[in-house]
Amino acid sequence: MSELAVNGGTPVRSTPLPSVFKASGRRFGDEEVAAAERVIRSGILSATWGSEVPALEREFAALMGSAHSVACSSGTAALHLAVAAVNPEPGDEIITTPISDMGTVFPILMQNAVPVFADVDLTTGNLDPAAVEAAITPRTKAVLAVHLFGKPAPIRELRALCDKHGLLLIEDCAQAYLAPVGDVYAGRIGDIGCFSLQQSKHISAGDGGLVVTDDAALARRMRLFTDKGWPRDTDERTYLFLALNYRMTELAAAVTRVQLTRLPAVVEDRRTGAAKLTAGIGDLVGLLPPRDDDDHVYWQYPLMILDGDIHAWAAAMAAEGVPCTPGYLTEPLYAAPAIRSKVTYGASGFPLQDAEYPPGLCPNAEELIERRLLVLPWCENYTGADVDDIVTAVRKVHSALALEK
Ligand SMILES: *Cc1c(COP(=O)(O)O)cnc(C)c1O
Repeated sequence: MSELAVNGGTPVRSTPLPSVFKASGRRFGDEEVAAAERVIRSGILSATWGSEVPALEREFAALMGSAHSVACSSGTAALHLAVAAVNPEPGDEIITTPISDMGTVFPILMQNAVPVFADVDLTTGNLDPAAVEAAITPRTKAVLAVHLFGKPAPIRELRALCDKHGLLLIEDCAQAYLAPVGDVYAGRIGDIGCFSLQQSKHISAGDGGLVVTDDAALARRMRLFTDKGWPRDTDERTYLFLALNYRMTELAAAVTRVQLTRLPAVVEDRRTGAAKLTAGIGDLVGLLPPRDDDDHVYWQYPLMILDGDIHAWAAAMAAEGVPCTPGYLTEPLYAAPAIRSKVTYGASGFPLQDAEYPPGLCPNAEELIERRLLVLPWCENYTGADVDDIVTAVRKVHSALALEK
């Protein structure tokens, strides 16, 4: 095997891979341009007077098979809508995962509830239902599960647990569009499913969010929460409860409507590329490719390094032209200053005065972030040749780092 590029050898790849952060990795075409132009020429860019957002909500609900959908300004906003609809009392607890984007957790704090972190499964990084059950207290109000990297969490087990204990279940599907869970999609087992349209997700409008639910009361609360609690379906200019402006714009909705038509192919192409990578590295000792029960939609490709240094791996892979992220996060979400040091409202620490988030709180999450996870960016526009290069890079780094030992 040739010398690693990190040691002066020739890189596997001299041109950058397609990336979701550039045009090369996204599917924005003439239809999106026409949609944006249609909105601009209409003169109506706000959903309060427009038709694109209502149309998107109908189309997304139809795609998801849900009774209701509400559009909003980001994935974080979507999760905030969900937590606000759950309507916890200050100090109530919501159980969630330490491995996610912080957009999963801050909405809990913004509603003055306390995030309680349950540990995750070492092979997927998704919530472990036994750990969730052990974390339930009389103050628990809801469980907020994430389908990490596009692999569905054990959401039916979590549903059963929530039903047994009278809790609401929120699904964070920002990384898991169209991920099958039996005969429905992720997002349809919980009371509310939340999606993001940020640049890096399966589909994008730059920023944006969507929620789905079958519950009319939850849907109404979420809709009001996007609009200062203002019931615009009545004649009254009144404000029914504390809420901000999380409205999606007509421009974002028009682009998203086109993106929705591309979504099935995006998921299929991501799955095809990932299957090719998994097949190409399946024989390598000490690596664990993502678990796929025909249900992974590969927002990214989490490769577990069971025997090796993820930081050395990441440096070597980057030099080969295949940059990846060791650990996914720098630290579990509970170790971030906002949470561990309770940097919330003034100097109050509210609502975390009595909460503690010590190191070792979730050992599996810490093991994944510190030692196991190597996250390869994934993209629907990878060609077969691109994936071949990724396979070659993984094999080259694996062989060289194994020899070093
Ligand atoms: C991206 C993401 C969010 C936040 O979405 P934004 O649109 O960036 O606010 C929340 N949760 C998960 C799991 C995400 O991947």
